[in-house]
Amino acid sequence: MKTIIITGASRGIGAATALLAAKSGYTVVVNYLKYKEGTEIVANEIERLGSKAFVVQADISKPDEIFHMFSRIDRECGPIYGLVNNAGVLEPQTNVDRMDSERLLRVMQTNVIGTILCAKEAVTRMSIKHGGMGGAIVNVSSIAAKTGSPFEYVDYAASKGAIDTFTVGLAKEVAAEGIRVNAVRPGLVYTDIHASGGETDRVERLKSKIPLKRGGEANEVAEAILWLLSSKASFTTGSFIDVSGGL
Ligand code: NAP
Repeated sequence: MKTIIITGASRGIGAATALLAAKSGYTVVVNYLKYKEGTEIVANEIERLGSKAFVVQADISKPDEIFHMFSRIDRECGPIYGLVNNAGVLEPQTNVDRMDSERLLRVMQTNVIGTILCAKEAVTRMSIKHGGMGGAIVNVSSIAAKTGSPFEYVDYAASKGAIDTFTVGLAKEVAAEGIRVNAVRPGLVYTDIHASGGETDRVERLKSKIPLKRGGEANEVAEAILWLLSSKASFTTGSFIDVSGGL
């Protein structure tokens, strides 16, 4: 059974990806920040599906916690095949002229630095140059990287733009080491993240602007992630799948 790590898998897109990964036969490392109950539900469901779950609490905005998470995985799970860099945050909707540096640091520390450091730890384990077996990384970006999210969270959009550039560069850097690196760009998907922005019903407000005229479901993003992780995507690296209903 191949082992994959999914950051932020207690709910939303990460949880849907964890369940689909279990159905696809992966052992799943389920990372979370605070929502222990949700994580336990996901882990129990993974086991019920006949796969193995390994739960690790770690704050990916903290470099030490990333390092300790991967060390624990080395000791308790063995070699890893894949990483889904899914954990991400946004802050209340506002304009750039009202954003302070603390907010910007919080968003960038999780969405950019945390994502890059998780990829770094995964590469050092999966790379055939370092004695690994190769593997796949899927970064969860956002369609915001293209739209810029004006009047809502340009900082968040910029963090996802950084992830797109990181995906392209890392893919080229590790291609010869047996690692593929791709990203998905979800559009408006029904999860709790919109509440963090201060608008629980954001998808309902904006769905008429989506060409497919509806919001997306977390499992629709998970399908794209699982394809990119799989050997079916063996000639695909440095690529993006927009799961955004045509936005
Ligand atoms: P969500 O429902 O708010 O879930 C966020 C997940 O990230 C939770 O599991 C949370 O853990 C975890 N998390 C947050 N900060 C973390 C940290 N510092 N360390 C570890 N885990 C952390 O969000 P979602 O909508 O599923 O979003 C998942 C990804 O998709 C994000 O990268 C987001 O930017 C991206 N995305 C979402 C949408 C959308 O419309 N939903 C659109 C485009 C892109 P706890 O539950 O333990 O707090």
